[in-house]
Amino acid sequence: MRAKERMTIMRQQPRELSVSERINNFDEVVFGYDDKTARLEAERCLQCKKPKCRDACPIHNDIPGFIRLLREGKIEEAYWLDRQTNTLPAVCSRVCPHEFQCEGSCLVGQASQSGQPVAIGMLERYLVDWMVANGKNLLQSCALPNGRKVAIVGSGPAGMSVAYYLVKQGYDCTIFESLSISGGMLAVGIPAYRLPRAVIAAEFTALSNCGVQVLSGVTIGRDKSLRELKDQGFEAVFLGPGAHVSRRLGVEGEELAGIIHGVDYLRRVNLGEPVNLGPNVVVVGGGNVAIDCARTALRTGSDQVFILYRRGRAEMPAPKAEIHHLEEEGVRIETLAAPVRVHGANGRLSQIECIRMKLGACDDSGRCRPEPIEGSNFMIKVDAVIPAISQDVDVTAGCGLDLALSRFRTFEVDEITMQTSVPWVFAAGDAVLGPQTVAKAIFQAKEAAESIHRLLQGLDLKEGR
Ligand SMILES: Cc1cc2nc3c(=O)[nH]c(=O)nc-3n(C[C@H](O)[C@H](O)[C@H](O)COP(=O)(O)OP(=O)(O)OC[C@H]3O[C@@H](n4cnc5c(N)ncnc54)[C@H](O)[C@@H]3O)c2cc1C
Repeated sequence: MRAKERMTIMRQQPRELSVSERINNFDEVVFGYDDKTARLEAERCLQCKKPKCRDACPIHNDIPGFIRLLREGKIEEAYWLDRQTNTLPAVCSRVCPHEFQCEGSCLVGQASQSGQPVAIGMLERYLVDWMVANGKNLLQSCALPNGRKVAIVGSGPAGMSVAYYLVKQGYDCTIFESLSISGGMLAVGIPAYRLPRAVIAAEFTALSNCGVQVLSGVTIGRDKSLRELKDQGFEAVFLGPGAHVSRRLGVEGEELAGIIHGVDYLRRVNLGEPVNLGPNVVVVGGGNVAIDCARTALRTGSDQVFILYRRGRAEMPAPKAEIHHLEEEGVRIETLAAPVRVHGANGRLSQIECIRMKLGACDDSGRCRPEPIEGSNFMIKVDAVIPAISQDVDVTAGCGLDLALSRFRTFEVDEITMQTSVPWVFAAGDAVLGPQTVAKAIFQAKEAAESIHRLLQGLDLKEGR
């Protein structure tokens, strides 16, 4: 098939649950491709010689490579090619912000009339779905144990990826996780309707089959120090505690009952705690966390849910598909508005006072600063407010060691090796970058695993990298 023909084939749309089916449960909203649809979609790929999709992928997956194999019907080979660089394909295929990465730079999308790139995420998801449906192992066989012990703090994508790369080389990996469940923000942040829990469980089963042990309910820095881990024979430690501290709005009234910060709210819901917000909810923020909070609020019984975002719709950092689903489900987005005060009585909030904003001077990246419009204040009656504006890193995991921190209070690392200021401690993911994405955490974790291997083998950490 010629390139021009490929570009005129319309993108294959996945089947989705209807809005009424969705909003009362946490079932996955978007279904995967079947064999025929996946093949048709794979046909649209131009197999570019210098693939921009690969460059735009934070983990540099060989996207044209796995699509070519898929087209040839070599699904298992395609999966293994993808898995070489992507430790969590089932996760990334569902939650990566593809429109800002691989799909955003796909030439089919840029050159075709429809503007629709190849559905790279859906094709990657198809590979894993196929492996699962056909009873295949998700991990290749692991190396024989080499007797060298590595401790991993945090079971999020960064910790899981480090464990994956090290166990493949025979290292004895133990993950210490402070929560009762594994998966980090995949399990206690991202809601199950976007990322089914069975997907996360399958990854941990594969890791544990290779001998990775997860010790839940252990907080490093409180129950055990990094120094103690070293004394217990762990020759290197990987720090991947993520960014779980909700940033505060910093407005008057934020301490009133009825205010629950974004990741705290999602964590409680995901851990199975009943959280009754009441009917009227305002979520503050425009990113993934805000959108997940708003859609979760609908699923836990609220019916008037607003998003309040201080910039315009075009500036919302959440993917368009998420915003589309959100609005379909009945959430209203109030852009160019920000909270200034929370009002209440007897210790409980009743209204949120907001102000209209306008976009002012823009920085070099084109991002414009929101500025309040004087005298434009307005009130919204609320039962709950969920600030979801960002998260910070709790650095206490490093207590007792003199670990250097960045000016954002994240762990400072060498940008090539991920080594911290203490030679046997490495860090990656949100704990280094601040709240970012799964793919970026995976990429850094892979680099950290390579460095840990080199350190324990007495090799140069930087040579050839
Ligand atoms: C609501 C929400 C939605 C998101 N949506 C997306 C999305 O759609 N796409 C995307 O790519 N990214 C998304 N992200 C971001 C993504 O989840 C993170 O970037 C990613 O999980 C970071 O991985 P990590 O391993 O660094 O940290 P985490 O996933 O945060 O894992 C850290 C783990 O360490 C544990 N821990 C912390 N401190 C300690 C300690 N002292 N001792 C032991 N254990 C500890 C934590 O309990 C946690 O399990 C979202 C995040 C949130 C909160």
